[in-house]
Amino acid sequence: MSNERYDIAIAGGSFAGLSLALALTSADASMRVAVVDRTPPDDAVKGESDGRATALSAASRQLFEALGVWAAVEMSVQPILEIDITDSGLKSIVRPRLLHFDSELKPGEPAAFMAENHVLRAALIARARQQPGIDFRAPEMVSGYETGDSGVSVRLGSGDELMAGLLVAADGRRSVLRKQAGIKTTGWGYSQVGIVTTIAHEKPHNGLAIQHFLPSGPFAILPLTGNRSSIVWTERETFGRDVVARGDEAFLAEVKPRFGVRFGAISLAGPRAAFPLDLHIARRFVADRLALIGDAAHGVHPLAGQGLNIGLRDVAALAEVVVDARRVGLEAGAPQTLQRYERWRRFDSAFSGFAMDGLNRLFSNDNAPLRALRSLGLGLVDRTPPLKRFFVHEAAGATGEVPALLRGEIP
Ligand SMILES: Cc1cc2nc3c(=O)[nH]c(=O)nc-3n(C[C@H](O)[C@H](O)[C@H](O)COP(=O)(O)OP(=O)(O)OC[C@H]3O[C@@H](n4cnc5c(N)ncnc54)[C@H](O)[C@@H]3O)c2cc1C
Repeated sequence: MSNERYDIAIAGGSFAGLSLALALTSADASMRVAVVDRTPPDDAVKGESDGRATALSAASRQLFEALGVWAAVEMSVQPILEIDITDSGLKSIVRPRLLHFDSELKPGEPAAFMAENHVLRAALIARARQQPGIDFRAPEMVSGYETGDSGVSVRLGSGDELMAGLLVAADGRRSVLRKQAGIKTTGWGYSQVGIVTTIAHEKPHNGLAIQHFLPSGPFAILPLTGNRSSIVWTERETFGRDVVARGDEAFLAEVKPRFGVRFGAISLAGPRAAFPLDLHIARRFVADRLALIGDAAHGVHPLAGQGLNIGLRDVAALAEVVVDARRVGLEAGAPQTLQRYERWRRFDSAFSGFAMDGLNRLFSNDNAPLRALRSLGLGLVDRTPPLKRFFVHEAAGATGEVPALLRGEIP
């Protein structure tokens, strides 16, 4: 049984956890960080798609550039150049759009990019393995922790123990550490699932993303490299689970009317899965020597593709407060350090979560007055270029108190 000492231990080595480890060790070369993940990293490095892809904001791209990850994914990433929003019925032959955006901050600078999850995770793992100061332990479980005067002792599934000044929970929506700390969440389930898969199509998408609001939930078509798009299809839970379990032909038959004919003939080009959707915001983002980041801290409806982008804001803010604290001789796990992180991130995350929730309620129904109201609202936005620019900048993550990493700077 070993008992090693680190400055920071991170439970969960997915997008948020690995990004934080890279951020901390890039800002302070003397920092020693342990990252523990229960899944074998080789599954990600093999390069097989799990059918999932993520819309990354321009600010998240800046973070990955600063961390030396972007160069490894750039060739596989598809810029989103335009966005169409519609709520027309599935049977209508023409699908008039309610709103059209040029998704660029300025010409040649896309506000968002689509990255396939397996590509991004493999690049993060490869970068973390090269980085002195990071000890990446996987497959390995974090099973619990105890705090004391000299730090936090982290119990691992193998029986080993790690000592650290601060423990970060990046262990996802069902965070064991959040539960052990007694931190409750505010939120609710959506009785909807998010079905994801990759679709190959005959005609090029030219960087166009389509958000089609249907009564059971939004159906998003998001461009990937080549003549491929990722779909995120929000559906009522029972029907969604049933449709995902059907054979390829039967599943494709349900996708076709939703996907439409704009990109020509379509076929399945990846595995599919259905994810339960909920809103959860941790009531506290910190406890004694513990900080929550990413989905461990909050989960939002995927309709605007913001979940991980919000998580990367946690990463950038926590890295910045820890680095600032160490520079003035404070400990990473000191209460003042953790309170600064919580003040920075909790309100912003809750605001984003409730905004997505409101959009889902406004659009996931067929109520005539609500349809009229949203058509009016979106029509107004469509004819008001400054409002459109505001929304594009919001989606790019370029507003508010932006931490250094999201401006492409190491703190
Ligand atoms: C359908 C769908 C579409 C989405 N689309 C987008 C999008 O377009 N854009 C966007 O920004 N976000 C999107 N999201 C949200 C995004 O996927 C999540 O926000 C993101 O994956 C969270 O990353 P994370 O690192 O916090 O957690 P996770 O990715 O959940 O990783 C948690 C990690 O912790 C590990 N772990 C768990 N417990 C333990 C333990 N006890 N010990 C050790 N390791 C442990 C797990 O193995 C895992 O690797 C979408 C989500 C869904 C469901």
